Amino acid sequence: MKEINNVAVLGGGAAGFFAALSVKKHHPQAKVILYEKTTKVLAKVKISGGGRCNVTNSDSDIDALCMAYPRGGKQLRNLFYRFNTTDTQEWFESRGIPLKSEADGRVFPVSNKSQSIIDCLMQEAEDLGIDLYYNKTITSLKKDGILWNLSIKDEAATKNFNAVVIATGGNPKISGFDWIKTLNHKIIAPVPSLFTFNMPNEKITELMGVTVENVYMKIKKHGIEVSGPLLITHWGMSGPTILKGSAFGAQKLAKCEYQFELLINWVGEKNTTILFNQLQACANQNPQKTLFNQKAFSLPQRLWQFLVQKNNIPQTKKWIDLSKKEGRRFVECLVNDKYLVSGKTTFKDEFVTCGGVSLSSINLKTMESKTSAGLYFAGEVLNIDGITGGYNFQSAWTTGFVAGQLKT
Ligand SMILES: Cc1cc2nc3c(=O)[nH]c(=O)nc-3n(C[C@H](O)[C@H](O)[C@H](O)COP(=O)(O)OP(=O)(O)OC[C@H]3O[C@@H](n4cnc5c(N)ncnc54)[C@H](O)[C@@H]3O)c2cc1C
Repeated sequence: MKEINNVAVLGGGAAGFFAALSVKKHHPQAKVILYEKTTKVLAKVKISGGGRCNVTNSDSDIDALCMAYPRGGKQLRNLFYRFNTTDTQEWFESRGIPLKSEADGRVFPVSNKSQSIIDCLMQEAEDLGIDLYYNKTITSLKKDGILWNLSIKDEAATKNFNAVVIATGGNPKISGFDWIKTLNHKIIAPVPSLFTFNMPNEKITELMGVTVENVYMKIKKHGIEVSGPLLITHWGMSGPTILKGSAFGAQKLAKCEYQFELLINWVGEKNTTILFNQLQACANQNPQKTLFNQKAFSLPQRLWQFLVQKNNIPQTKKWIDLSKKEGRRFVECLVNDKYLVSGKTTFKDEFVTCGGVSLSSINLKTMESKTSAGLYFAGEVLNIDGITGGYNFQSAWTTGFVAGQLKT
C-alpha cells in the first residue's frame, strides 16, 4: 500500500471520531480532517443513555455480543476480535474516564455524564492533531486517478484525499444516501428500529407503570420471539423485551405498517401442565379465597386482577369453585395473551436505523468498499444495528477503529 498522507473522515459522530483517531494511531504521518455537517460533533453521544451515555456493554463473550445485533451480528464477529467491549472499556479508562457496569450489563461513565466521553474524545483528537471542520456538508465524492475528490456544499473548490472514511450515520434525512449510492454501493432501505408498541384499543394501558420481570413476547406471524422484562405504558407496551422485538422485527413490522397481533406469556413458563398444576396447588391451599385476591403466580397484583377479569372470572369466585375448564382457559391466557398493536412510538427519542449500506458491498476485514479502493465505512451508515444496552456505540467504536486502520 502507498503511504497514506491525506485522509478525510466524513461525519463527526462516535464512528467518525473513532475512525479519525484510529487513522492517526495507525498512520501518524497522515493529515486527518474530520468534516461535520452541523455546528456540533458527537451530538448523539451527548443525548445518549438519557445524558449518561451507555458507552458499551460489559458482556465480553463474542458469541453473546453478536446475538445483540439483528443486522450485522454475524459480520461483526471477526471485527470484535480486533476491537470489542473490553477494548472500549480499556480505551476510555486508560484515558482517565472511569466506567461502571450496571446489573443489566450497560456500561456508563462513573460521572454519569456523557460529556465525560465527549471531553475524552475531543482531547484525544486535539492531542493527535486531527483537524475538525464544522458546517461542512459533503455532497459528492469522485475518484480522480488514485485520489478521492470531495465536494462540499457551497464551496467551489474540491479537495483531494488518499483515503476517505464515510461515517455519516444512519438517518436518511440527515446523511442522505444518494451520493453514496452513486458509488455503486447497495443500500438497504432504512427503517426505524428500537421502538415501543402502541395499543390504542387495549384496556391493558390502564395498568400503565406496571412492570413484569420476565415474559415471553411472540409475534407469531413474523416469527419473532423474545423474552425479558416488560413495561406497560399509557400508550401500550415498552421495556427491554418490546424494544428487542422491535429491533428483530424492524423490517417485517415496517412492511405491515406496525399493525399486528402480539402474544404475551406473562409467567415466563411455557409448559401448560406445570402451570395448571400450580393453579390447582393454589386452589388446594386457598379454597375459600377469591381468585381476584389470591394470586397463583408472582405477578403484579394489578396485572393478576386484570387477567382474572379478562377471563370473565367474577371477582367473588372462590378458588374451590374454579372448574378445570376455566382453569385451563386461564392458563392458556397466561401463556398466550393476545393484544393488537396499531402503530409505534419512539423510545425516549432514542432511535436507531435498520438499513443503510449493505455489508455485501464492504470488505469486512478492512471496512473498505468492494467497489471503490480507498473508501471506507464505519458506524450506523452501514446496515448494522443492535438492541439497547450499549451495543450501537460498540459497533460504531469497532467499525471506526477497523476502518481507520485503512488496511488489514
Ligand atoms: C437519543 C438517542 C440515544 C441513544 N443512546 C444510546 C446509548 O446510550 N448507547 C448506544 O449504544 N447507542 C445509543 N444510541 C444510538 C447511537 O447514538 C448511534 O448508534 C451512534 O451514535 C451512531 O454513530 P455514528 O457515528 O455512526 O452516527 P451519528 O452519531 O449519527 O453521526 C453521524 C454524523 O455525521 C454527520 N453527517 C451526516 N451527513 C453528513 C454529510 N453529508 N457531511 C458531513 N457530515 C455529515 C451528522 O451530522 C452526524 O454528526 C442512541 C441514539 C439516540 C438517537
